[in-house]
Amino acid sequence: MRLQDQVALITGAASGIGLEVARTFVREGARVAIADIDAAEASKSAAELSRGGGQAIALTMDVTREDEVEAGITRAAETWGRLDVLVCNAGIQVISPIEALSLADWQRVLAVHLDGAFLATRAALRHMYARRAGSIIYMGSVHSKEASVLKAPYVTAKHGLLGLTRVVAKEGARHGVRANLICPGFVRTPLVERQIPQQAAALGLSEEEVVRQVMLKDTVDGEFTTTRDVAEAALFFASFESAALTGQSLLVSHGWSMQ
Ligand code: NAD
Repeated sequence: MRLQDQVALITGAASGIGLEVARTFVREGARVAIADIDAAEASKSAAELSRGGGQAIALTMDVTREDEVEAGITRAAETWGRLDVLVCNAGIQVISPIEALSLADWQRVLAVHLDGAFLATRAALRHMYARRAGSIIYMGSVHSKEASVLKAPYVTAKHGLLGLTRVVAKEGARHGVRANLICPGFVRTPLVERQIPQQAAALGLSEEEVVRQVMLKDTVDGEFTTTRDVAEAALFFASFESAALTGQSLLVSHGWSMQ
């Protein structure tokens, strides 16, 4: 097993990509803290993983709240005596042209993605630096590298995570900590299911047209990326054994972007 006895904390792991990363890490022997703003769903997910024989706990955590992030990461590290992997995955989306976007929505998206990643990183690094080992994985997006209409704060935040990844890779190196970014294409999670009708209304298209002509238009094969695809990329970064792989970003998008 590739993560035997390691401890991982995954934000936004009650649903979608984060939950699949949690399942994959548990399958590979890790003990996993499911940190999510949705306490009920986080508990359900932790119970599912525990029923299968894994070790998982649920943490109620709004990643934009400094106190909750500090408390949650401390609890995970104290429960199992270490923290090896942090996956900053919690995310939200707002669909709007810039001229109609409220400051509150702009700030909300930046806060979840960027403040959340910063707060979790800072708290996790204390534990990782103490043991001189750790891997931090940020959930970016193809929108860390490309832009789309109607997604200004999301694209801005996801580009920002690329910068944070690189700084953490540089600062973390002498403490044995690696940092990498995963950039998925469209994955059919609740985050994407919600935006299909929103994009259809904003662009004057049918939902089928949004899927074919917007979301999958530039892929090489017209296919959605799956949660499994993204989880395998996370496992690859988490279990990589040397410091050769740090400061990198990996596109997992059926060729939508090829940078
Ligand atoms: P999802 O909606 O299924 O899951 C997101 C999770 O984050 C939910 O469980 C939600 O409760 C949690 N969350 C939201 N705000 C939070 C907060 N403030 N604090 C803690 N948890 C919070 O979405 P998903 O598609 O699985 O997205 C996961 C990550 O993957 C996000 O960062 C998203 O931007 C990124 N991503 C998704 C896609 C896609 O197509 N689905 C593509 C690229 C990147």
